[in-house]
Amino acid sequence: MSLDALHFNNRLLAELPGDPDTGPRRREVRGALWSRVMPTPVAAPRTLAVSREMLAALGLDDADAATPRFAEVFAGNALLPGMDPFATNYGGHQFGHWAGQLGDGRAITLGESIDDAGGRWELQLKGAGPTPYSRSADGRAVLRSSIREFLCSEAMHHLGVPTTRALSLVATGEDVVRDMFYDGRPKAEPGAVVCRVAPSFLRFGHFELPASRGEHDLLRRLADFTIRRDFPHLRGEGESLYADWFHEVCTRTARLMAEWMRVGFVHGVMNTDNLSILGLTIDYGPYGWIDAYDPDWTPNTTDAGGRRYRFGWQPAIARWNLMRLAQALAPLFGSTEPLQASIDAFGTAYTAAERDNTARKLGLAECRDEDIALIRDLHALMQAAEIDMSLWFRGLLDLDPGAPSAPADAFYDPTLRATHAETIDAWLRRYAERLRDDPLPADARRERMRLANPKYVPRNYLAQQAIDRAEAGDPSGIVELLEVLRRPYEDQPGREGYAARRPDWARDKPGCSMLSCSS
Ligand code: AMP
Ligand code: MG
Repeated sequence: MSLDALHFNNRLLAELPGDPDTGPRRREVRGALWSRVMPTPVAAPRTLAVSREMLAALGLDDADAATPRFAEVFAGNALLPGMDPFATNYGGHQFGHWAGQLGDGRAITLGESIDDAGGRWELQLKGAGPTPYSRSADGRAVLRSSIREFLCSEAMHHLGVPTTRALSLVATGEDVVRDMFYDGRPKAEPGAVVCRVAPSFLRFGHFELPASRGEHDLLRRLADFTIRRDFPHLRGEGESLYADWFHEVCTRTARLMAEWMRVGFVHGVMNTDNLSILGLTIDYGPYGWIDAYDPDWTPNTTDAGGRRYRFGWQPAIARWNLMRLAQALAPLFGSTEPLQASIDAFGTAYTAAERDNTARKLGLAECRDEDIALIRDLHALMQAAEIDMSLWFRGLLDLDPGAPSAPADAFYDPTLRATHAETIDAWLRRYAERLRDDPLPADARRERMRLANPKYVPRNYLAQQAIDRAEAGDPSGIVELLEVLRRPYEDQPGREGYAARRPDWARDKPGCSMLSCSS
């Protein structure tokens, strides 16, 4: 198939009210959920990386992606038949405070592509130039953050974590000026555009904005549209349909949080404008991956003060965000009771998913009440002794219950290891005893654990190494890393280096442990 055979059906444009004004002039947009705006062409588009799986999902292949036209289209320099670019209007609570209108400030949707099986894939460029929602910013994105979004979107998909996807990463051939740590040292950096893909990019903030303005008719139209297009399995009508829908949003978000905690992902900016109505991981900014287990860690220096978005708080923050969404949706309900019931269902669904993950990560047939204490104590131990989360759990696959010993490669600090040696041994003996009391045969246990404990995750320093190489002119590190991350649960002989714990040089290096919202 060729690019020109992609088929578009732009329902959001067709079914929801839009802004009569077009073009990128910055403005407040009321009474409308989207504005038509064209991507701003770039000087010299060059495709740096593509996702093979995403190409295939769209019915394309490597040959299509190798054409100059592909780079032109996915940098925003050319449109395919049926594309009709627009930016959407949303608000959000940022760091706990209502921020008013935000919107797609540097995201421009090209169109909703329909695949052969009827699946919907919205193609959205990030970094394609200003929109009415760009406020004082430039609508562009730097190469480093684009590489991070591209890699992590696809890595998450392969890990089995719900996520928006990435089709392509295209260098623009233009510089973008950024003050990386907001400390008065702006610098020109190479720019890029990622084409990200999802059935829907609607966020909690899309519902909050009309609600905040008393635009209840618009809110209702948006809710009806979302249910019709993105939750077509929901039947019923009126308030009970809205209740079923919000319930599903809550349970999907709960499962997403449990998945982030399972793999050690820290989003970094869980503002309500960065939470997907489909329960997908969305907006990869200053995210990070847990190396040494630490529930208090956040990679985001912009959030260093309160560390609101630290690893361990993510489920509670998601619940807070769902409460903001519930408030926004309240005008659709006669009473708040069904909304509260779904917020409660979030807690129930999260606890169930967390228990399931505990059983899978530890290789148990099921999670008993006493296993909650077992995993809590392990977490405390991992934090105190600076133990690498991924290496520890992966190492437990090979534990011999008859002679339990600690995964040796998981420790960052020999002194801390020695200090905690007794507690570590005691925990291992307790775990071994629990295994001996579990009905799962050894083979089945190992397999269960293998599929719950990834060997390869996009550790911060690995992404940064790919970025350093790409900024020096060699993008092949991106493709090499993606290749490894395509099979995160498999042992990949010869690629053990990609599973290694964070090297010392990366401990406090910008990009590896410290990131900001500047991207
Ligand atoms: P984020 O923190 O990335 O979720 O972004 C919050 C808001 O700022 C969203 O409305 C973004 O579209 C907008 N934004 C972030 N960076 C830029 C940029 N470089 N140009 C225009 N808008 C931006
Ligand atoms: Mg955002």
